[in-house]
Amino acid sequence: IEAQLLHAQKMESIGTFAGGIAHDFNNILTAIVGYGEITLKNLPPDSTLRQNIGHMLTAAQRAAALSKDLLLFSRKQISEKIAADLNDIVLGVQKFLLRVIGEDIVCSFDLARSKLPILADPHQVEQVLMNLATNARDAMPNGGALTFRTARETPGQALILEHGLSKGEYAVLSVEDSGSGMSEETRLKIFDPFFTTKEIGKGTGLGLAVVYGIIKHHNGCIAVESAPGAGTTFRVYLPLNNAALGVQESKLPAGDAEGG
Ligand code: ADP
Ligand code: MG
Repeated sequence: IEAQLLHAQKMESIGTFAGGIAHDFNNILTAIVGYGEITLKNLPPDSTLRQNIGHMLTAAQRAAALSKDLLLFSRKQISEKIAADLNDIVLGVQKFLLRVIGEDIVCSFDLARSKLPILADPHQVEQVLMNLATNARDAMPNGGALTFRTARETPGQALILEHGLSKGEYAVLSVEDSGSGMSEETRLKIFDPFFTTKEIGKGTGLGLAVVYGIIKHHNGCIAVESAPGAGTTFRVYLPLNNAALGVQESKLPAGDAEGG
């Protein structure tokens, strides 16, 4: 747990720092893109300069995408948690996920039959899904299989200790791919901001840092299982919303009810 606090602190300071840079950087990019577009408009259609300026604009747009990621990462969690259902959230972005993942990957959804009520910001949970899905896609450049699962689970003692979870039931979202997998050395660093094994321009190393922040904010945890060549499974644990389940506090064993 101490390591997690340290990690959270590190994320916080990097976030503040990155957010400042991203903000200034965005203003600069706005100028580059703006003047580039004006120049493009004023050039004759057959000008060879058109192509070059087109390339410059594409690069500037990539930089804008990166700084958007940075801002997202650094933004203080101004989220609104509402009573939501994990299955509904997954179904809501199903089409979008399929489009992002592409046709070379066989994608399946195996959702819990009963409702999985959680207290969550649905947009943030969608972002978690998106980031896990794009990583899975990147790990399967030659196609493969990707499965999204939801379930209700009571985490075991090991998980509770390792991640400082409270006792009780959780909604679990797992994302399982048949891709490249990763070495232990890589696995230990994946939640660090800016850690990426991807080419420059392809990865920002912020996806999983964002995912980590969101899940912590929801009092959950994320576990990963992976080995080189054996694919990867991410499991996200989010506390079930007991109020929506009609669980009465008096029924909980002593010590479990929050606030005494
Ligand atoms: P990025 O995708 O920009 O590299 P992330 O924070 O999303 O940044 O991921 C960090 C790194 O974690 C990736 O570069 C990759 O090495 C590793 N990784 C994440 N998800 C997977 C996966 N499903 N399979 C293999 N490696 C992964
Ligand atoms: Mg990523």
